Amino acid sequence: MKYVSTRNRDAEGVSLAEAIVTGLAPDGGLFIPDSMPSMSTERLVGASQAEVARAVLSAFRDDASPDPSAAITAAYEWPVRLAEIGENTAVLELYWGPSSAFKDYGAQFLAGYMPSALESLGRAGDRLTVMVATSGDTGGAVAAAFWRKPGIDVYVLFPEGRVSARQEHQLCCWGDNVRAIGVRGAFDDCQRLVKGAFADPFWTEGRFLTSANSINVGRLLPQVTYYAWSSLDYRERHGATPGFVVPTGNLGNALACVWARELGFPVGDIVLATNANETLVDYYDHGNWAPRESVPTLANAMDVGNPSNMERLFALFEDHAAFRANLHVERVDDDTIREVIADGIERWGRVFDPHTACAVEARTRVGGDHWILAATAHPAKFETIVEPLVGRTIELPPALVELLERPTSKVTIDASAEALRGVEDAR
Ligand SMILES: *Cc1c(COP(=O)(O)O)cnc(C)c1O
Repeated sequence: MKYVSTRNRDAEGVSLAEAIVTGLAPDGGLFIPDSMPSMSTERLVGASQAEVARAVLSAFRDDASPDPSAAITAAYEWPVRLAEIGENTAVLELYWGPSSAFKDYGAQFLAGYMPSALESLGRAGDRLTVMVATSGDTGGAVAAAFWRKPGIDVYVLFPEGRVSARQEHQLCCWGDNVRAIGVRGAFDDCQRLVKGAFADPFWTEGRFLTSANSINVGRLLPQVTYYAWSSLDYRERHGATPGFVVPTGNLGNALACVWARELGFPVGDIVLATNANETLVDYYDHGNWAPRESVPTLANAMDVGNPSNMERLFALFEDHAAFRANLHVERVDDDTIREVIADGIERWGRVFDPHTACAVEARTRVGGDHWILAATAHPAKFETIVEPLVGRTIELPPALVELLERPTSKVTIDASAEALRGVEDAR
């Protein structure tokens, strides 16, 4: 198997290791497998989460790439949990890792695999520098995953004063090889600075600069694994194939669910639950793909107006009819998110975070039996929204307790390339 660009699928492909290390294809497209592997999934019935995960990763591996087993096993130090909540509905809790959100699986795998991938490309001597712009969740997961990894420097840029207090703590509590940088500006300024660094010899000479961002195929593949495991587990216990509802922003987690179904796992209908941002639902309803500015919502990790992974979905489902035959989209506005959270304890016996609340609403609308709802973040991460609605304090998950006890440090800079270079000079 090789990895090819979504924009030129006939060109010669690259190995998994190279696709992960470079992140983006040279023509600006996203890496996808040149053909979807097929797996004998039945032999994995009853297997552990880590066993299923290793089997999935090895199906996506080529001979030129190092073995991903150790890196994916390490990501499952924090197993997912599948909790039944009644009405033939289960919640797939993806938030027991260090940043209390599903992005830990992709980030942990990437941190474990990147050094051996670099080495396999003959770049072992390069100092690896990871630079990410974050509006909240990505930075926390990446910082936690790469913290104290030898030979790797990490820079996390966030918009100063525009992330919640708890989010800022999660970004700034690391130290050692992880630098938290508050940028006086918006998320877009952070992104611009990171893009600029990739074109700046100051940052690219004598080291290997990578961004670890969510379009990296190395972040997608680990996400396939929890859909694979939970589909088998649910079917064993209920004798029925579950559908999945996935809270969706940049479409990475949703795409992983689609890939699990393509591999042959028992995944039924897939419903994408979005917040008020309309790009995806507009395409679903009218066949009109028109990226736009994002609008801020309560489910802020899904505030995306131009979902980049759509390019990968278009590679699978080539026209509007094929898209509609394979996926369903439900859009959920902020008022409804509030209602779902407020009714959560009475209706389902649970407290939901604003992202998962979108999935809960979509499940109610589509009706029927046997659904798994992907729960993408722990509600304690969004306590300022959730606690007033449910009228109680949310108990913190153990990983978050640990982080919030750590001291923090950061540097604050103006949104300029020169100021960013200054951070490195001051090291
Ligand atoms: C990132 C994130 C999402 C959106 O996931 P995509 O892969 O971008 O669609 C949903 N919920 C939470 C809590 C997130 O952090």
